[in-house]
Amino acid sequence: MTVRVRFAPSPTGLLHVGNARVALVNWLFAHARGGEFLLRLDDTDTERGTDAFAQAIEDDLRWLGIGWDTFARQSDRSDHYRDAFERLRAAGRLYACYETPEELEFKRRRQMARGEPPRYDRAGLSMTEAERERYRAAGHEPYWRFQLEDGDVAWTDLIRGAVHFEGRHLSDPVLFRTDARPLYTLCSVVDDIDLGITHVIRGEDHVANTAVQLQLASALGADPAAFAFAHMPLLADVSGAPLSKRLGSLSLSQLRDEGIEPMALAGLLARIGTPDPVEAVERLEELLPGFDLARFGRATPRFDRDELGRLNAALLQRMPYEAVEARLTALGMDDFGARLWLAVRANIATLAEAGDWYRICRGDLEIERQEEGFLAEAAKLLPDEPWDGETWAAWTAQVRDATERRGRNLFRPLRLALTGREHGPEMSALLPEIGRTRALYRLVGRESAVAGGGVVVPLGRKKS
Ligand code: GLU
Repeated sequence: MTVRVRFAPSPTGLLHVGNARVALVNWLFAHARGGEFLLRLDDTDTERGTDAFAQAIEDDLRWLGIGWDTFARQSDRSDHYRDAFERLRAAGRLYACYETPEELEFKRRRQMARGEPPRYDRAGLSMTEAERERYRAAGHEPYWRFQLEDGDVAWTDLIRGAVHFEGRHLSDPVLFRTDARPLYTLCSVVDDIDLGITHVIRGEDHVANTAVQLQLASALGADPAAFAFAHMPLLADVSGAPLSKRLGSLSLSQLRDEGIEPMALAGLLARIGTPDPVEAVERLEELLPGFDLARFGRATPRFDRDELGRLNAALLQRMPYEAVEARLTALGMDDFGARLWLAVRANIATLAEAGDWYRICRGDLEIERQEEGFLAEAAKLLPDEPWDGETWAAWTAQVRDATERRGRNLFRPLRLALTGREHGPEMSALLPEIGRTRALYRLVGRESAVAGGGVVVPLGRKKS
């Protein structure tokens, strides 16, 4: 049996970390078993769904490294849903209803007030033909509900273990709206059957749907045992509160804009909720060995944005220059160079921050000089180029001897004058990147550098 899974987002918004986790786990599950991954756009909600969101979902998945073997969209499959309508109707499992949303809401409130679970009272089912005729004559179109059976529905969930629902406690779901458009509950089952899905891995907000959908699958002539289910607990934030309110700021496109590397996010999402350590990877395939759905627990996993930031920095810290060269070029830094990258990569939280060090080493810097006398003395001792990784140690040793300064008193003003910052990468690596001309300008000011040292090389920001 070929494993076939699907990730089925509705294009009514941007993908967020919760969706991405479900997509990633599906992808890993399929790839760990030599199976197939289907991307299905659940786009029957034409009021809220847009092509722009559909496109963004595809872009975000690709960014995360997730490709698909098959693609389907529900808006292309209306004939199949129509066909299901006919079959369910012929089997006596669909019935027409005429209540307005207000009437349904009224019934719901009454049930709640009585302490009963809100469940459709099947008024539509017990209508007489004459009553229906009256609605029709008055120009009302019906919507359609699926009549559930009373029996139990049970399955062994790959994450939750034994799950059990009593059919008589479930509410008959609406499958077709008054305008005859099918709803997700139906479409999803029709698609899962037609497209040969073997494992449905999705969020635990769909557990009750599964009970309904299993009955629907058998009413449509499929064997419900052909599907395995895994319902993943939804993510919470660090305090344990549902993530739902913050999902906008945790969309993939937002994180990408903030400079998060896709493999840092993937490394985190593949492991939270399991006992396994979180680690940034270079390719999704590295997450495959040892991947096992059984390692995902039922407890609510916490998504920690700071942990993602740390993972991102850790990933950048070991990235070779070749892995970032094209992106740095695209950011306008085509002469970044491997040496500067190696000097700065341990000091950045995002790739964009490399740009700050690039400007410090390759551009002009307005620095407010402190301790000018000391800096002028140090400037006199600046050795001639060529400079290398030893230059800083040799120069500062001379400055130390000449000024009798030591430690912080010696190094801090030099670092501050040369980089404009208190902290940063090793000065031994930065100094050769800054170069003698810039160093001199920064230590004594451009005018005195030019007048005193005969340095006339104009410095500017790199042509763009
Ligand atoms: N479109 C549904 C959702 O986004 C899909 C759920 C499912 O995987 O069946 O929640």
